[in-house]
Amino acid sequence: MTTAPSRLFRPLVVLLPIVLLLELVTVWWPVSPPVLPDDLPAEAVEGFEQAERYLRPLIVGRFFSSLAGILLVLVVLLSGVAARVEEKYGGSHLRWPARIGFLFAFFLLIWLAFFPSSWVHFLRNRDFGITEMVWQTWLRNKVLGTPVPLLLFFGRWLILFCLIAIFKSSWWWVGALFLFGVFSVLPEWASRTYPLDPVEEMAPLPAGEIREAFEGLAAETGRNLELMMVNESERTRRVNMALTGRIGREYVLVTDTLIDKLTPEEARVMLAHELGHAVTRHIVIPFRKLFGLFGSLLTLGLVYRFQRVHPVAERRILSVLLQVMLAGHLVTTVLRPVQGVVSRYEEREADRYALELTRDPESFRSLMLKLAKVNLEPYDAPRWAYWLYGASHPTIRERLEMAERWGAENLE
Ligand SMILES: [Zn+2]
Repeated sequence: MTTAPSRLFRPLVVLLPIVLLLELVTVWWPVSPPVLPDDLPAEAVEGFEQAERYLRPLIVGRFFSSLAGILLVLVVLLSGVAARVEEKYGGSHLRWPARIGFLFAFFLLIWLAFFPSSWVHFLRNRDFGITEMVWQTWLRNKVLGTPVPLLLFFGRWLILFCLIAIFKSSWWWVGALFLFGVFSVLPEWASRTYPLDPVEEMAPLPAGEIREAFEGLAAETGRNLELMMVNESERTRRVNMALTGRIGREYVLVTDTLIDKLTPEEARVMLAHELGHAVTRHIVIPFRKLFGLFGSLLTLGLVYRFQRVHPVAERRILSVLLQVMLAGHLVTTVLRPVQGVVSRYEEREADRYALELTRDPESFRSLMLKLAKVNLEPYDAPRWAYWLYGASHPTIRERLEMAERWGAENLE
């Protein structure tokens, strides 16, 4: 018996490159200037117009890119290659090298399929001044950044393979618990103090105006958090700050791009926002984790329901893994709006905390305008994208309006 490709295979093979191409051409999507209030400084207006030109096409492109992701898994699944690998090598001593080879080829296929898109985005980031990298550096970083995701990819799918084989009929919930434990609880427990990839380096924040501003605020609130800096300036001009580390052992991570861009007052507001995250963390993180577990159970449960034969025969497990990837895409897409609501709640609370702590809505406003200009964040977002993609932060418009309201209500 040989496994022939499904009848849907051919049309999808034609559709996939079209969708990938559509994602590429959306960078030329026509953009009209944003509607802005009259009281913005000219520099901010210019920044928001630039941000609109930068981001609006990406919002459209993102739709095609996630569609391409789904199509790609579907094409490999319907090609029947996974089943043929098992037919040919399943009983032999080559079965594990063949399975690993299949997963590696699949990873490579995804990498190559999305390579043109990341190349175009790199060129675009250079046009917009977000990065000054030459293409050699970009390529080197991209290649050096691949081994970690590749290892995680293998870890995830090979272990799930074994769990399906071992836990005959309860694999779906055992697998969900495993994925949840290893990819969600473990990193939290171990605290993410290792760099994201071999390119990134982390060091204590050097002495200077910004560190002093941070330490002053940390002393005021009795939260003497560790301050770390990560080198991003080689790759991007974007500015970022995050509160990270496990609950009770949080530390603040800032990008080196931030150091010469902010006034001490703006830096204070930015740190106060991060400290605000520490206040809601004990509610938000457990919720996020439980929600992640729910997502895992839903994904694997759906695939389990879809199987006609239990337990899954060993020769079908590779195909089942592809089905899990597909279901994962769909479940994430459906759950993303809910995640967005929680994330925006958290950000709003952090903003409110920052305003209450610093009582400085003026610096809050100038920080927002500066970050928007440097990071190319638009003034507002189309509502459909805001909800559907689960925007992680309220828009700049919403944040400015909130600061203004806060000032009017709390300062005389
Ligand atoms: Zn935040």
